[in-house]
Amino acid sequence: MRLALLGPPGAGKGTQAIRIAHRMKIAHLSSGDILRSEKSAGTPLGLKIRDFIDRGKLVPDDLMIRVMEDRVARIHGGFVLDGFPRTLVQAADLAGFLDSIHKPLDLVVNFVLDENVLSRRFEGRRVCPVCGSVYHLDTMPPEVPGLCDQDGQALVTRPDDQPDVVRERIKTYRLSVEPLVDFYKKREILVTLDAAGAPNDVTAAVVDLIRGNAGKKR
Ligand code: AMP
Repeated sequence: MRLALLGPPGAGKGTQAIRIAHRMKIAHLSSGDILRSEKSAGTPLGLKIRDFIDRGKLVPDDLMIRVMEDRVARIHGGFVLDGFPRTLVQAADLAGFLDSIHKPLDLVVNFVLDENVLSRRFEGRRVCPVCGSVYHLDTMPPEVPGLCDQDGQALVTRPDDQPDVVRERIKTYRLSVEPLVDFYKKREILVTLDAAGAPNDVTAAVVDLIRGNAGKKR
């Protein structure tokens, strides 16, 4: 299965992408995680993209396309893309690239949810600065308050989860991603998922949706 997930920041795409990858035994590629690890390692790419991430702005398409397609090309089986593509230019380039290697996307899942639910998701999100595990104070709290279950590190709020940066990220999302919905509708591979439920319910729904659609295609 080759999948991509669309949805505003905070919709739970990252959490669900990890679970989908695990359940379906496919690779998980998160553009945000890739960029954040380049940034924290201080690589030449990390230095180029640092300011965009910190201000909640999109990294330029040509750079993003090179980074992601290079990684996709190295995957042999299925994959789930999380956070990429995010603009029409990225989507069109990716479609051309995947068609050229005869591995088009099978399905694009569009996570939708209400603005009020979205803001609360950001307020409650905490991450481990060392291993990157993600928690939520309401829906996925760590076992010991404030500490990562994996390595015991003190959890932090992501710098780009600050309210003003969040507003910018959601605005950027609306402007750039909404045209992708039409792009994938036309290709007849778009399905929509209500992402407002508890994480386990959303996982069950998304896995059912993916398996149901895989059945139809084969
Ligand atoms: P995310 O964790 O997916 O919310 O991504 C964090 C930040 O990384 C975004 O606010 C952008 O600055 C950058 N980013 C991630 N994916 C992309 C993309 N496909 N295109 C451009 N910028 C991206």
